[in-house]
Amino acid sequence: MNTPIFQTQCPSCGKQHTYSIDNPNRPFCSERCQLIDLGRWANEEYTISASSNRTDDLDSPTD
Ligand SMILES: [Zn+2]
Repeated sequence: MNTPIFQTQCPSCGKQHTYSIDNPNRPFCSERCQLIDLGRWANEEYTISASSNRTDDLDSPTD
C-alpha cells in the first residue's frame, strides 16, 4: 500500500511542501511554522482579553 503524498501549502508561511502522514507537523511545513501559528492564536486571544479589560477601564471615572 502506497502512502499518498501530495503538495500542500503551509498555513503559516505559505510555502508549498510535501504533505505526508509521517510529518508530525502537518499541515505545517515544519515544527517552527506550527509553533508560530500556535503563538499567533495565543497572542490574538491575549489581545482580545486585554482590549476587553481596556473597555472596562474606560468605564472608570479615574481617567
Ligand atoms: Zn511553513
